[in-house]
Amino acid sequence: MATTALAERVHDGPAGYSGVFPDAEWAAEIARLAAERNATILAHNYQLPEIQDIADHVGDSLALSRIAADVDAETIVFCGVHFMAETAKILSPAKTVLIPDARAGCSLADSITADELRAWRAEYPDAVVVSYVNTTAEVKALTDICCTSSNAVEVVESVDPARDVLFLPDQFLGAHVKRRTGRENLHIWAGECHVHAAINGDELTAQARSHPDAELFVHPECGCATSALYLAGEGAFPADRVHILSTGGMITEARSLRSAVGAPTKQVLVATEIGMLHQLRKAAPGIDFEAVNDRASCKYMKMITPAALLRCLVEGRDEVHVDADVAARARSSVQRMIEIGTPGGGE
Ligand code: SF4
Repeated sequence: MATTALAERVHDGPAGYSGVFPDAEWAAEIARLAAERNATILAHNYQLPEIQDIADHVGDSLALSRIAADVDAETIVFCGVHFMAETAKILSPAKTVLIPDARAGCSLADSITADELRAWRAEYPDAVVVSYVNTTAEVKALTDICCTSSNAVEVVESVDPARDVLFLPDQFLGAHVKRRTGRENLHIWAGECHVHAAINGDELTAQARSHPDAELFVHPECGCATSALYLAGEGAFPADRVHILSTGGMITEARSLRSAVGAPTKQVLVATEIGMLHQLRKAAPGIDFEAVNDRASCKYMKMITPAALLRCLVEGRDEVHVDADVAARARSSVQRMIEIGTPGGGE
């Protein structure tokens, strides 16, 4: 594919690709290149607003992976972090899956390696391994059942009560599941997301006090709000104002609050990565959506820049590869989850 004048401005630096402004020329070039490659662009809710706006679909990781499997396009450009693009590849092995910058990792997914999981399983040989979707393909391949935040309780409840459960990698989601199921034989890996660990109980409590009429949205889907989910359950924010919602549920709830008669909601506090605010403000322009922690920005998500997306479409890189055997085993753990219950919200 020919290098364009715009693409020559792309610069690679320590924080990722830069040098291109997301203007009309860029948008037209992205659309032209995507059509040339027969590519569908998917963007996670926590992407930069300009990336969300140019994408064909915006949503949470699992919903996007299922869209990737359903669309006719030969190529999927996954604007998100690496484990998400891997999940899309696992569910669409025949398609070419590209990520605009393969360096976009995830501190939660990186908190357990396949070797660490093998060693943990050796300590509990009869245990059932339940893994959150924020894990690498290799970890999913060693997993019995995947889960999302929306269905983690349901998945754990489906396991024979006599068997140990190894739950990974998020300790906040694990604590939430243990509290809800009352299960003593649930063993929890001590992983966390560096972004959401920063949304702490003191901050939530202070926000609840200083915004006495605001509602609180906690997004349980990406793995990114699990610490807030735990804290809401602990009573750090008044329970009647807490809405534990998937991405789709959050957008639906925002629209319904906007159209509600009587006392309309004026303000909603959002306990998740700040990229979510863009879709919420578009869905319900009359409501003031504010972040519980406006520093809750994922540097990995933000590595998918306008320059990175342009380079991706020009060069056909970075391609995501998952070993066929690993993909088949990982696919089984995702499919088992889908058989057990609703995997969570869509867009
Ligand atoms: S916000 Fe946290 S869990 Fe989500 S992609 Fe970034 S590091 Fe991973």
